[in-house]
Amino acid sequence: MPMLDPTIREALEARLRFYRELGLTDFYRRPIDRTNISVVPEDPTITQEMGAPSIPNEWAGDQESQSTIDQETTPIPPRKPIQPPPPISAVPSEDRVSALHIIREDIGDCTRCALHKGRNKLVFADGDPYARLMFVGEGPGADEDAQGLPFVGRAGQLLNNMIAAMGLKREEVYIANIVKCRPPQNRTPEPDEENTCSPFLFRQIDVVQPGVIVALGATAATYLLGQRQPLAGLRGRVHSFRGSKLIVTYHPAFLLRDPRQKKEAWSDLQIAMRELGLKPSRPAS
Ligand code: URA
Repeated sequence: MPMLDPTIREALEARLRFYRELGLTDFYRRPIDRTNISVVPEDPTITQEMGAPSIPNEWAGDQESQSTIDQETTPIPPRKPIQPPPPISAVPSEDRVSALHIIREDIGDCTRCALHKGRNKLVFADGDPYARLMFVGEGPGADEDAQGLPFVGRAGQLLNNMIAAMGLKREEVYIANIVKCRPPQNRTPEPDEENTCSPFLFRQIDVVQPGVIVALGATAATYLLGQRQPLAGLRGRVHSFRGSKLIVTYHPAFLLRDPRQKKEAWSDLQIAMRELGLKPSRPAS
């Protein structure tokens, strides 16, 4: 039997496992038999991210925000309602790169809120200014703060897999957060921090004009929608925000902690795909 490159096999195996957990099983003839692939060295990182049944304890104090995780299932405390500024008029598509550049310059070496004090790198965004799909998370974690890019830690790897399951590449979507600096100990951003930072996010949305925004987790969803209710009450339908359709799903950090919810997240992503006219990707045969 021809030997598959171990790295490719590992990636393929991880991808198939991820599809299975999403409930996409129609292309499987039979479950992966790990005894047949025991020569492949186990990469504990990938196994964890793909949602192995038991989550190692060392994840507990990981860079993912515990508050993000808790808020997915608990009631949202009342907060001052936000009043986002009205959308700016559509930016000519050829100007999007420079329009985003101007927003980044306007932010500058920001000291507008207290979050700047603990910041290493400000996390502006990542991805395609012409994306039809945008993801909005809560705020940078430790890896993002170190690299200056959103969703590059463990939750980011899971987000990459979610994007791949939608048949897209990370470079084809646009990713940003409610706040651009890491909150201390990954706590939930305070309302004044959200309100100070979000006008820049709103400007980014107005420039990118994505067809669909996926709000990742309770902080992003409740902030963008201005509705203080548990995530469950916001999922499963199409909202609108600044001219884009907005879909709510679980934060990847929450999915890492409770992989059973990946099926639910997949059904949310399918709503987004339907709105974008995308079909689920199939692994190459
Ligand atoms: N969690 C978020 O909400 N955003 C990131 O960029 C990383 C982790």
